[in-house]
Amino acid sequence: MTSVKAQASSRSLRSHFVLVSAGMILALTLVLSSIAHHSEARALKSQIGNALIDTSMLLNHNLDQFMWARSIEVELLSQFGMSFEDPDEMRDLLEAVQEKVPSFAWFGVTDSEGVVQVSTGGLLEGMSIAHRPVFTEARSERFYGDVHEAQLLAQLLPNPSGEAMKFVDISFPLFSDAGEFRGVLAAHLSWEWAREVQTTIMEPLRERHQIEFFVVSPRINAVLLGPGRMAGQELNLASLTAAEAGESGFLVEKWPDGERYFTGFTKSSGYRDFPGFGWSILLRENEAVAVRSVTQLQIVIWSTSLLFILLFAFIAWRLSIVITEPLQEITQAAHRLSKGKIAEIPLHKGIREIESLEQSLRDLLVSLTRAESALGEMESKAHRDALTGLANRNALTKYLKVAREFAEQRHQSLTLLYLDLDKFKPVNDTYGHAVGDALLQQVAQRLRHQVRQDELAVRLGGDEFLLVLTTDDRCPEATGEMVAERVLESLRQPFQIEQLTLNIGSTIGIAIWPQDGEQIEEVLELADQALYRAKQQGRNRYLFANNPK
Ligand code: GH3
Ligand code: MG
Repeated sequence: MTSVKAQASSRSLRSHFVLVSAGMILALTLVLSSIAHHSEARALKSQIGNALIDTSMLLNHNLDQFMWARSIEVELLSQFGMSFEDPDEMRDLLEAVQEKVPSFAWFGVTDSEGVVQVSTGGLLEGMSIAHRPVFTEARSERFYGDVHEAQLLAQLLPNPSGEAMKFVDISFPLFSDAGEFRGVLAAHLSWEWAREVQTTIMEPLRERHQIEFFVVSPRINAVLLGPGRMAGQELNLASLTAAEAGESGFLVEKWPDGERYFTGFTKSSGYRDFPGFGWSILLRENEAVAVRSVTQLQIVIWSTSLLFILLFAFIAWRLSIVITEPLQEITQAAHRLSKGKIAEIPLHKGIREIESLEQSLRDLLVSLTRAESALGEMESKAHRDALTGLANRNALTKYLKVAREFAEQRHQSLTLLYLDLDKFKPVNDTYGHAVGDALLQQVAQRLRHQVRQDELAVRLGGDEFLLVLTTDDRCPEATGEMVAERVLESLRQPFQIEQLTLNIGSTIGIAIWPQDGEQIEEVLELADQALYRAKQQGRNRYLFANNPK
C-alpha cells in the first residue's frame, strides 16, 4: 500500500531529468526573450517615432519654403513687372515666369473692379473675379489662399490626372506711382507642387518602410493630400488634435482602417514672412510592419529554444537511462535477496558512484552472510553455556572475528566489560551449589538485557562474564562507563531464589579495542587485569584498563 502511494506521488529519476532540463531552458528562454523584447522594442519604437517626426518636419519645412519662394516671385512681379500700358508685354512676362516655374497654373492681372485684364494663356481675360477672396482679400495687402477646388479654371486648364483640380492662391495689390489702387496680381499654384514635394522626400522612405504621408488642412478639416482614397476624408485622431494644437511628436494609434500605426505629426508654422496655412502633416507607418524585426527576433529566440529543449530533454533522457538502468538492476537484485532467493549484485563500469555503491552492497552482502552463519553457529549447543544459555568462549572467539571486521568497516570500536561477581563463593558455601547455579542463571538473565541485539553477553566460566559492546569511535569510554554503571546497578538489586532473598555485588574491568591494543585477545587480557585491580581496590566498582591506578 505504502509503495503504491509512493509511486503515485513521486516521479521517476528519468522524468525528473527531462523535466528539470526542459524547464531550465524554458525559463532561460522566457528571460532572454522578454529582455530582448523590452530593450529592442523600446529602442525601435523611439527610433521609428523620431524618424517620423523628423520627416514630417522636413516636409512641412519644404512646403513652407516652396510657398515662400513663390510668394517672393509674385511680389517681385507685382512691384516691378506690371505695366498696364502694354498688356502684351505683361502677358509675355507672366508666361515666361510660368514656363520657368510650372507650378504656377495661372497668372492674372485685374483692374480695380476685379475684371481680368491680362492672364497667362489669355484664360478668363475680360471676366470678373471681383467676388473671389483672391481679389477681395488682396486690395490692401498680400493674400495667401488655402487650398480650394478650381472653379472657373477647372474647365479651361489641361488636367491630365482627371482629379478635381486644387489650387493655392497668392495675390498682391497693384498700385500706381501715385499710390492709387489699380487692381491685383493673382497667381494660382497648382496642387501638383505638393505632390512633387511628397514624391521627392517620401519615395525613398516609402520603399524602405511603407511610410504614408497626409496633409490635413484646418480650414476644410480634411485630408488634402494622402494615399489612395484618403484625400478629402475627415480624420479623427489624437495625433491630429495634438498637431493642430501646435505640438509635434509621435503616437501609436488606431486609424480608421482598424490598423495600428506609428504616427509622427507636426504643424506648419510658415517660413520667413510666409505665415503658413497651418497645415498638419501626419506620417504613418504600420506598427506590425515596423516592429517586424523585433517579432522576427522573438521567433528566432523561441524556435532556437524549442530546438534546445528537445535536444536537452533527449540528452537528459539518455543520461537518465545510463543512471537508472544500473539502479533498477540493483533494486531487482536486492528485491530477490529480500525474498530469500539467490541473487548477485551487478557490477556496472562507467559511473564511479554507481560502481562504489555496487561494491559496497557486495561487501555488505558478504559480511552479512558471514555474520549470519557465525550467528547461526552460535545458536548451536557448542556455543552456548549449558547452565545460563549465554554465549560461551567458543562463541566469543567466532563473534569477535566478525564483530571486528564490522567495526573496522564502520569505524567503530569494541568495548569489553569483564565482570566477576563479588563474594560468590560464600553463596555456594552457605546455601549450596544449586542456589549458586540459580543465582548465576538470574545474573545471566539480567546481563542479557544490558546488550543490544548485535552485541554479545558471554559467560566465560565460574562467576565470570563478558559484555562486548560496539561503541562509537569518538567516545567509547562514555558508553563503557554508562553500561558498566547500569550493570552494577542491575546486579545490586536483590535476587529472589525460592524463599531466599540474596544480595550480591559485582566488579568490572573495561578495555577498548583498538584504543588499548591492536589484538582483541590482548585487549581481553587487559580488561581481565583491570578487573583484578578493581577487586583489589575493594570491589563493587568498574575500572578502565588505561587507568594506571
Ligand atoms: P571474589 O569476590 O574475589 O570474586 O570472590 P568469589 O567468592 O566470587 O571467588 P571467585 O570469583 O574467585 O570464585 C568463584 C567461585 O564460583 C568458585 C567456584 O566455587 C564457584 N563456581 C564456579 N563454577 C560454578 C558453577 O558452575 N556453579 C556454582 N554454583 N558455583 C561455581
Ligand atoms: Mg567472584
